[in-house]
Amino acid sequence: MTASPYSFPATSETGDPLLLTPGPLTTSRTVKAAMVHDWGSRDANFIEINRSVLTRLAGIANGAGDWVTVPMQGSGTFAVEAMLTTFVPADGEVLLLINGAYGKRAKRILEIAGRRTVVHETAEDTPPDLAEVEALLASQPSITHLFTVHCETTSGILNPIAQIGALAARYGKRYLVDSMSAFGALPIDVRAMHIDAVAASSNKCIEGVPGLGFVICRRDALARCAGNATTLVLDLHDQCTNLEKTSQYRFTPPTHVIVAFHQALDEFDAEGGVAGRGGRYRRNCRILLDGMRALGFRPLLAADLQAPIIVTFHMPDDPHFVFSRFYESLKARGFVIYPGKLTVADSFRIGCIGRIGETEMRAALAAIAEVLEEMGVAGLVEKTA
Ligand SMILES: *Cc1c(COP(=O)(O)O)cnc(C)c1O
Repeated sequence: MTASPYSFPATSETGDPLLLTPGPLTTSRTVKAAMVHDWGSRDANFIEINRSVLTRLAGIANGAGDWVTVPMQGSGTFAVEAMLTTFVPADGEVLLLINGAYGKRAKRILEIAGRRTVVHETAEDTPPDLAEVEALLASQPSITHLFTVHCETTSGILNPIAQIGALAARYGKRYLVDSMSAFGALPIDVRAMHIDAVAASSNKCIEGVPGLGFVICRRDALARCAGNATTLVLDLHDQCTNLEKTSQYRFTPPTHVIVAFHQALDEFDAEGGVAGRGGRYRRNCRILLDGMRALGFRPLLAADLQAPIIVTFHMPDDPHFVFSRFYESLKARGFVIYPGKLTVADSFRIGCIGRIGETEMRAALAAIAEVLEEMGVAGLVEKTA
């Protein structure tokens, strides 16, 4: 291992800065080490590793048997686009529940694919209004699909996917979920929540490396999607059919990523699955919120809307606080945070996910306190003290 240029004590196991971001994330040394081998895509061991990864992912969502995990090479958005363009036929119409950038991205995907959309949009700090959603479903029978984002990473808000699923079931709509930043940390039950398809990726809460998206699809719903796809590569029906028939991806699979993902799933199981992983992230989130409040920062979201994934903080109005300097000084101490993406407020974000725990969160808070002092924003502390 080469020496890290960062000297701050709480760095990752490899000495790299800790990624307090929504992904890619800090991964364990053992996940990274799984990638030192070269695998042929037709190697029997690789085929078995890939099969195991896909089976376990469906199990995490309580989909064993009736749901199938279809992998998609690329980042998470490739999986979301594959889900939307495979499931929504040319004459379909999607009700999109939007409260952030990822909901807007889904709309853009559908527009490019030439699919009709109906939008229920709320502010980035506000969950969908379920009464209004129900009114739309009742008054617009042309709607065929409902789409929502589990944790809208733009703000970190938790959307009520179970209640939305109950509405989809009551009105007989197909239900598609982007659970990218929540999958593995927050419970998702495709059966109980009436979910037809849910998209996520290798590099978020399962703590693998980037390069593989996946969609957990209700088998009988996917079976009716032949011919819907608007591109060759993002066709989940074709990808699934080919994988089941030949055990091969249609196009080169990211072999190293998949083997690392398998290792990440072993570590996920060892931590106690969703309950264990989610529990660690909830502790990280609590430490972060308490520590940042004590330093005078204000979170965007009310506690009951905050998912334990990423926290948005208002930009302090102290003139000594310069975000670019804050960011760079934290990076020099070994912590990478994330700029804001909100339209409702000037903000920045700090993630709670990845291979980090209490020690790393406390070290990040100590570094933040140090940087505030360096910038001369001690006033921030006094304001709320
Ligand atoms: C990370 C993320 C995605 C996918 O983003 P990529 O940059 O394509 O990996 C999609 N939706 C949500 C909610 C996300 O957090």
